[in-house]
Amino acid sequence: MSRIFLDYNATTPVHPAVLEEMLPYLHDIFGNPSSIHWFGQEARQAVDRARQQVADLIGAEPPEIVFTSGGTESINHAIRGTAEMNSGNSRRIVTSLIEHRAVLSTCEFLKSKDFQVIHLPVDEYGAVSPESAADVITDDTALTTIMLANNEVGTIQPVQEIAGIARERGIVMHTDAVQAMGKIPVDVQQLGVDLLSLSGHKVYAPKGIGALYIRRGVKVAPLIYGGHHERTRRAGTENVPAIVGLGKACELARKELDNGITRLAALRDRLEEGILSHIPDVQLNGHPENRLPNTLNVNFSSIEGESLLMNLDLLGIAVSAGSACTSGASEPSHVLTAMGISPEQSQGSIRFSLGLGTTEADVDATVKALIEIVGRLRELSPLSTNPKSGNQPSEE
Ligand SMILES: *Cc1c(COP(=O)(O)O)cnc(C)c1O
Repeated sequence: MSRIFLDYNATTPVHPAVLEEMLPYLHDIFGNPSSIHWFGQEARQAVDRARQQVADLIGAEPPEIVFTSGGTESINHAIRGTAEMNSGNSRRIVTSLIEHRAVLSTCEFLKSKDFQVIHLPVDEYGAVSPESAADVITDDTALTTIMLANNEVGTIQPVQEIAGIARERGIVMHTDAVQAMGKIPVDVQQLGVDLLSLSGHKVYAPKGIGALYIRRGVKVAPLIYGGHHERTRRAGTENVPAIVGLGKACELARKELDNGITRLAALRDRLEEGILSHIPDVQLNGHPENRLPNTLNVNFSSIEGESLLMNLDLLGIAVSAGSACTSGASEPSHVLTAMGISPEQSQGSIRFSLGLGTTEADVDATVKALIEIVGRLRELSPLSTNPKSGNQPSEE
């Protein structure tokens, strides 16, 4: 069975050029970057080169990049590290309802440390409004953290506008750019953010590597104590092969960005068009234009997303229902709920996320499989009032 992977927002395979770049650092060049001798210096140079490559992708300076174990650690470092620096009277954290669990859970933890957490709402397209941010980013705010692009529906957030408001008031601004990276242009100067989190495995580098951008002059307490690695901002001997891989992946992402956007948006639109024109009672979740070029989230009424996912899996097609972290649990997606979508509606929602390996043939095979499976499931579905004709209003 040929398999089709349409779950690139959950993770990506390591790019062959990334793997090739990493391999020497797993055998010959095995030195510790902190060592003075040749072995150490070779490794140090590789880490420095990677830091430059990461910095170049986001318009930063190399000393502003700290390597971490992934997106989750970068986010924890940004949020907890800023909260700790502000533990005086700035006890407010402003975030949104549609953040990744890494942000939401970290903020939840800080509530137990006497921080007040404000979750900004989103509109029907899953976008935060800068006006609502302006209302709550007060002088006693320690941090504002809003994701750049949502992992479930792909909606791109007005981070630049919100960062402008935060900066005017002297408040530190973090953005979780894990999904945006490599898919849309990301520039820390243009965005005006102080902190930005990245992850390797969403951009064809390995799992377990990431980076945190810390604007020069911004004070963030470390999460991990030990040696003087990463300018004492993140202790622990560097994961040299993975860092080299992340650097290479960032270089590729930068070179391929424009081509990638055009190619993926065309494939995504072909998928969307195929689904909407052949299957009745389907709704787009997320913003129709202002979203990631590779992401499509749709709701198939009268269907259980989990059954659709499993039926597609039997045919070798991998998609996601809700976010990867919540699938398996049948609670509705917090992102779709925040967008005002009812639990019944969000049940039938599927995320398709495309990537480097996706072809037109994959898209066409997926549309064909969906037509067949959705038809079959709707015939069986007790949720469906009149399964054969598509255009019945759904019963709420
Ligand atoms: C995947 C993801 C993360 C977590 O990154 P890891 O490297 O898997 O820890 C954080 N935020 C978003 C938006 C993500 O998609």
